[in-house]
Amino acid sequence: KHTKKVEAAIEGAAQIGIEVRKEADFSTWYQQVLTRSEMLDYYDVSGCYIIRPLAYNIWQEIQHFFDAAIKELGVEDTYFPMFVSQRVLEKEKDHIEGFAPEVAWVTKAGSSDLEEPIAIRPTSETVMYPYFAKWIRSHRDLPLKVNQWCNVVRWEFKNPQPFLRTREFLWQEGHTAHFTKEEADTEVKQILELYRQVYEDLLAVPVIKGIKSEKEKFAGGLYTTTIEGFIPTTGRGIQAATSHCLGQNFSKMFDIVIEDPNASASNTSTNSATAGKMHVWQNSWGLTTRTIGVMVMIHGDDKGLVIPPRVASTQVIVIPLGMSAKTTEVERQEVENKVKKVVEELKSIGIKAKADLRDNYTPGYKFNHWELRGVPLRLEIGPKDLAKQQTLSVRRDNGVKEPLPLPDLKTRVPEMLNLIQKEMFERAKKVYDDHVKIVIKWEDFVPTLDNKNFVLTPWCEEGKCEDEIKERSARTNTEQEPQDEKAPSMGAKSLCIPFDQPKEPALVPGETKCVNCGKDAKRYGLFGRIA
Ligand code: AMP
Ligand code: ZN
Repeated sequence: KHTKKVEAAIEGAAQIGIEVRKEADFSTWYQQVLTRSEMLDYYDVSGCYIIRPLAYNIWQEIQHFFDAAIKELGVEDTYFPMFVSQRVLEKEKDHIEGFAPEVAWVTKAGSSDLEEPIAIRPTSETVMYPYFAKWIRSHRDLPLKVNQWCNVVRWEFKNPQPFLRTREFLWQEGHTAHFTKEEADTEVKQILELYRQVYEDLLAVPVIKGIKSEKEKFAGGLYTTTIEGFIPTTGRGIQAATSHCLGQNFSKMFDIVIEDPNASASNTSTNSATAGKMHVWQNSWGLTTRTIGVMVMIHGDDKGLVIPPRVASTQVIVIPLGMSAKTTEVERQEVENKVKKVVEELKSIGIKAKADLRDNYTPGYKFNHWELRGVPLRLEIGPKDLAKQQTLSVRRDNGVKEPLPLPDLKTRVPEMLNLIQKEMFERAKKVYDDHVKIVIKWEDFVPTLDNKNFVLTPWCEEGKCEDEIKERSARTNTEQEPQDEKAPSMGAKSLCIPFDQPKEPALVPGETKCVNCGKDAKRYGLFGRIA
């Protein structure tokens, strides 16, 4: 019955879908979802990917939200060069030790060697801080708060993964200088809270806030706060974003000093170079395009992407249907006009709505097309619906269908989008919570991990113990993780010490012992294998 064109389209539909189930082959599923939804494409430099408009739009939603929020905190945007000289890059010893293996160097221009190789920024502390030293003279120049949206390059040798671990990635990096440690501490927390909002409120991705162990903190910093995500399909953790207090380590290395307004003759330093001077307190904080990958992994399903309404570039797709050989041209026109009118109506109240009026595709093909791309809500309108003054709504996240009266769309559609956003988060949050298991005895540690859980456990917080835990938990149980055989066998890392500590069973100082070494436990630590 179909025309040749329609037949070709149906055939196409079969090919554009996802061929593997998420639970059966997660890494193929992830690749197919990203490429077939047209979020991303592969590139011929390993570890680098093309971010296509569907994904870049999500990044822009994150930018809009975060930009407005940090401007409220008095942060201004700036731009520094991507190149950094070897001398400056290597100024802070701990910092460069942490980053050295991943730094990419430019050594040639055309065919001639550069006199001195130039590094590409892996992060911009060392790029910016010589200028902080120049610009900050007195306490009146504080606080200094800048941010840049840019790319950085870290030549990772671990398996690259689109969005999650790429060699070039997009991010924002905030860099601030403060008069007191208290001010710096406060800002570290404020930024971490904004990162939580990006993940939980925009992307509907639950995270756990905490502080990193000494081993896992930012190279050269004082302490690192973090939000940690969880990928249920693999049971693995992912560091979602970090907000660092750098203390005075960098200000000492880069000589970022102010006249101490409280200095008196009596407490003047004996060192004439630093007499009456004070080093500023610094923070740095970053959020990357990793956000997009985590969102896809958590919400995507066997039909493709599921995008939370708040970051969807198309929130509602309106599709005409129900046309048959008996449908008159007048009826067809009526349906089409109504579809267009509904879209205009929704757009007038700020909803990102679109009509799919392509006449060479079947409704079924269009359903697949928009489901694959994760559009949160579909509205179907046919001649029968028109007669009843209604439209059938279909939710992408749970497939639930509900007829909506056409005159009520301006109230019902925003309500539904809010509900979808809320329920997507609640569902993901419940899954996360269910996979954080309190473990008191070592015997339970590895089996709990092998069952795709995080472990929350009393811990001494010592570096040596952290290494031991990683080693002792490094066997993979291939019988229980057949779908993940490509992943290297990997031990558990300390993800963070959660701010929100379990109340039960209470950790008794001097009594509760570390799960691994048996020394006194300080706090509960969150451990997991990572993506
Ligand atoms: P850092 O400056 O090392 O604290 O990194 C800031 C954030 O960037 C981390 O918390 C990660 O979420 C993210 N990140 C680190 N490495 C990569 C990478 N290779 N690709 C994408 N995001 C990354
Ligand atoms: Zn220990």
